[in-house]
Amino acid sequence: MARIVMKFGGTSVADLRRIRRAAARVKVEVEAGNDVAVVVSAMAGVTNAMVQLVSDAASLADLREYDVVVSSGEQVTSGLLAVVLQSMGVSARSWMGWQIPVRTDDAHGSARIEAIEVQEMLRRFGEGQVAVVAGFQGIDPQGRITTLGRGGSDTSAVALAAALQADRCDIYTDVDGVYTTDPRIVAKARKLDRITYEEMLEMASQGAKVLQTRSVEMAMKHHVRIQVLSSFEDTPGTLVVDEDEIVEQALVSGIAYSRDEAKITLLRVLDQPGVAAKIFGPLAEAAINVDMIVQNVSAETERTDLTFTVGKSELERAVAVLRARQEELGFVELLSDPNVVKVSVIGVGMRSHAGVAQQMFTALAERGINIQVISTSEIKVSVLIAEEYTELALRGLHTAYGLDAA
Ligand code: ADP
Ligand code: ASP
Ligand code: MG
Repeated sequence: MARIVMKFGGTSVADLRRIRRAAARVKVEVEAGNDVAVVVSAMAGVTNAMVQLVSDAASLADLREYDVVVSSGEQVTSGLLAVVLQSMGVSARSWMGWQIPVRTDDAHGSARIEAIEVQEMLRRFGEGQVAVVAGFQGIDPQGRITTLGRGGSDTSAVALAAALQADRCDIYTDVDGVYTTDPRIVAKARKLDRITYEEMLEMASQGAKVLQTRSVEMAMKHHVRIQVLSSFEDTPGTLVVDEDEIVEQALVSGIAYSRDEAKITLLRVLDQPGVAAKIFGPLAEAAINVDMIVQNVSAETERTDLTFTVGKSELERAVAVLRARQEELGFVELLSDPNVVKVSVIGVGMRSHAGVAQQMFTALAERGINIQVISTSEIKVSVLIAEEYTELALRGLHTAYGLDAA
């Protein structure tokens, strides 16, 4: 007998037929004698529709009310799944975030989980009851509903698995595992049997939406065994594991991309000590994250050009913050470009092997793709390129690193 958390994403609970299919999977685990907590997302498309409604209602909505609206989809699916399980003879009840409770901080819209109280859920496991938990939601210290950021049901599931000290956290989704890159863009993408926490963390944070970044962080910290698998097919999924559980390590394990970036260039900024602080300080104060940065040498010795990226949704705000300080910063012109994509190659094998970046630059050059900004870390190389080349770059790199499926 094991204690398991099963998470079903939006497409896996998109309609009643799929909810019944998910319920059948839950029933199998219950009949095998396991204690089961199920975490559900909203039906596919519902959260997007709610986000749109809020932004149509007011351009700068109160984030506490945003959370009230966008968390609602999970209330529906958790209730429906509990009803369907009961109709199949499985004892089950739904749990909203506030009922458990899932305690978070008050960063509405992307709150962090601080604690989950599971005593009552554990007691009910003892009575054979399945817990059906609304993912994505929690409660702040003032008792108000919070949400965990888009894709946050993954984090609900992993956090619950950690709190329950579960043996497994199975993430059921619309692909049958983690692939070398997004299988919807690269037909030759290959399913990985295993991927390390560290690589999965980089893949997620560089844009692979299959798991929310925070869920991987949390799994790594609390040693939660995550498995990503299909809710539609009975095929083995991908296990996220420690590095020593992987026998043969590829140089590059995966390629991720993110369309969420936008580029800003400040032309002819004064080249003096303190200028970078003056530029990035106000952006940080406005809670705008800066990701990639490159400083170019300008024709004039006293001045330099500075290029960096911010989140696409924050571009307008970032431009406003900088323009308001144009005189102080001394730049002559500000250029902004939302039509960029960040492509990253990831692999723990990079630590011990040189030449990975060079291979990337060559593969892109051979396809006539210009690199605008580069950034690296111990296990990844990222480049910023024009968005129109996304598919070409992903497919080209996938082949260049020998990742194509046979
Ligand atoms: P869910 O609704 O189940 O949470 P998501 O849409 O959030 O599902 O995540 C699954 C999607 O992630 C897939 O449909 C796929 O297009 C995308 N994806 C991006 N990169 C990868 C990757 N490396 N491996 C698998 N899926 C990926
Ligand atoms: N329903 C939420 C979203 O679409 C949470 C999730 O699906 O993980 O972002
Ligand atoms: Mg998701």
